[in-house]
Amino acid sequence: MKAIQVKQTGGPEVMELVDLPVPQPKANEAVVKIQAAGVNFIDVYNREGRYKVPLPFVLGQEAAGVVSAVGADVEGIAVGDRVAYTSVLGSYAEYAAVPAERLVRVPAGVGEREAAAAMLQGMTAQYLAYDTHPLKAGQTALVHAAAGGVGLLLVQMAHNIGARIIATVSTEEKAKLARAAGADDIILYTQSDFEAETKRLTSGKGVDVVYDSVGKTTFEKGLNLLRPRGMMVLYGGSSGPVAPIDPLVLTQKGSIFLTRPSLGHHIITSQELQQRAGAVFGMIREGKLKLRIEHVYPLAEVQQAHRDLEGRKTTGKLLLLPN
Ligand code: NDP
Repeated sequence: MKAIQVKQTGGPEVMELVDLPVPQPKANEAVVKIQAAGVNFIDVYNREGRYKVPLPFVLGQEAAGVVSAVGADVEGIAVGDRVAYTSVLGSYAEYAAVPAERLVRVPAGVGEREAAAAMLQGMTAQYLAYDTHPLKAGQTALVHAAAGGVGLLLVQMAHNIGARIIATVSTEEKAKLARAAGADDIILYTQSDFEAETKRLTSGKGVDVVYDSVGKTTFEKGLNLLRPRGMMVLYGGSSGPVAPIDPLVLTQKGSIFLTRPSLGHHIITSQELQQRAGAVFGMIREGKLKLRIEHVYPLAEVQQAHRDLEGRKTTGKLLLLPN
């Protein structure tokens, strides 16, 4: 089978199209014939070595497809089932062996591309808006990189809850997308100072929560934008990692809260995974959550996909198609 393998960490050029044997399922696993694999920023971190993975490895951790084989102990999942999954390495490939308890059935009315696009970024937006800082109607949220994969989904969820959303983006085109998703105010943070603008937009009161996936270039200013006892949710570092912080800073900024959450800790049990995925699929089926799949690449063009994502050229979801 075709797969994208990383033998040494580095830039996009380290991703190689290789031929590997189709995996055989262990007793607890199902083999998924992949129809669409999601491209996510975490794949960049894995490729670069910012997050350590034993070498060599097949990249990617999100996909949807059809079960082609099951291990001896697998119950409740059968050959032919339409499934999706995330947080299991090896999805940039034609086939992947996945622990059956990590698979979610794709409901009728949700296509495989949508399913692949919804798992990692959709469940992330869902836990950020409903668990990390359970947003309430009337609250104000600052959402960075609001036209990105997670960003567009988080804006829609926050809007559906009834929160006011101040969104940052780098271009006018991205501004249009964020507004269409439900953002109330847009700041082009590449052209104006988002700290001053957010203070102006909130009449100096600050926001209830900052959802920051950009990290290095936005984090410190964001701490100045929270109301007393507000929450900084740092969930990524697309511009680079954030420097260490003295806890006393949290006091000085108004007894604020800081958290650095990860999707993995929000889908620990199979039950929680099924509930979270079900919530996201439910929003899609009800028409409350629109997925923007603008960028679809053949597996062989993975290097271009990564260059586009890292180069801030993309909006919404990027998918790789093995066939
Ligand atoms: P995005 O589609 O959001 O792409 C990244 C965006 O970040 C860019 O489009 C760009 O938007 C913005 N950005 C700002 N500065 C830079 C920079 N220097 N280089 C590159 N991009 C920059 O990606 P994803 O939706 O896949 O992921 C978003 C972030 O969320 C990532 O940091 C990822 O690691 C994190 N994440 C965290 C999870 C968790 O559970 N903690 C789960 C999923 C994702 P603009 O041009 O508008 O500035």
